[in-house]
Amino acid sequence: MAATIIDGKAFAARVRAQVAGQVARLTSEHGITPGLAVVLVGEDPASQVYVRSKGKMTIEVGMASFEHRLPETATEGELLDLVDCLNKDDQVHGILVQLPLPDHLNSNLVINAIDPAKDVDGFHISNVGRLGTGQNAMVPCTPLGCLLMLRDTHGSLSGLDAVVIGRSNIVGKPMFNLLLGESCTVTVAHSRTKDLPKVVRRADIVVAAVGRPNMVKGNWIKPGATVIDVGINRIDAPERGEGKTRLVGDVEFDSAAQVAGAITPVPGGVGPMTIACLLANTLTACCRANGLPEPEGLTV
Ligand code: NAD
Repeated sequence: MAATIIDGKAFAARVRAQVAGQVARLTSEHGITPGLAVVLVGEDPASQVYVRSKGKMTIEVGMASFEHRLPETATEGELLDLVDCLNKDDQVHGILVQLPLPDHLNSNLVINAIDPAKDVDGFHISNVGRLGTGQNAMVPCTPLGCLLMLRDTHGSLSGLDAVVIGRSNIVGKPMFNLLLGESCTVTVAHSRTKDLPKVVRRADIVVAAVGRPNMVKGNWIKPGATVIDVGINRIDAPERGEGKTRLVGDVEFDSAAQVAGAITPVPGGVGPMTIACLLANTLTACCRANGLPEPEGLTV
């Protein structure tokens, strides 16, 4: 039986609509407009695209968008001064420093200088600790998006066997903590895992965050399992014409979709949820800062 396709684009549009509704209410009832500040250092083309689309969607949901660009040559002191200003600015509820930073800047130092209450990326050491200990954290956007899709697909995740492939700080590790928080039995697989197919075969939930095109094969998937493909890999697509490329995930979609119960496509799965969750986190940060109830269903 073919799997249900989890439509991340449609899901993300619903999340953004929910955020927009709550932003309108905050503004009309309390005179508060949530604000997101994005800091971009240097001219990295991919980062410029991300920052532009974050700014556009921030405005679309009715939030204030503040964009700060520093030159490639900016010093750590200059960047830390900017972060300090944003920490003190009452109109800014969320701060995101676009990664990667140029090599001469220490990302950990900069991220840990952000007020944890405004750390909408959830990368501050204090939010990492809060997530790991089940306290009110700002949760990294991509794993939060995966969790919202899993909750929507399954309802309760309690007792399910989950395998997360990849142990990065931005996806794999927070995903582990989120699934553990939902009472899954979680295995984290990585580049040194022995017999990955065997590990994946026992999972009711597979989250693949590796960065290797089509690595997870359909015959690794337990029949009926839910597969969340975080990977975004650009590969050659000669069938589309000379020099053409296309995006694929870490999971071999066609074979996996024959076996899984539900699966996210690439593109159109996890990707769109990431920015939607950034907006949700900014709303959450604004509500917390003002002592108002948090948006329902968009936090952990
Ligand atoms: P990363 O390079 O930081 O981590 C990759 C992980 O994969 C590592 O922990 C490594 O141990 C593991 N790994 C490598 N080879 C493996 C193998 N053969 N078997 C098992 N595990 C192996 O990557 P990341 O930042 O976590 O990103 C992973 C993928 O997710 C990338 O394709 C990235 O583009 C994508 N991504 C997508 C979004 C989104 O919004 N959809 C966000 C972040 C990352």
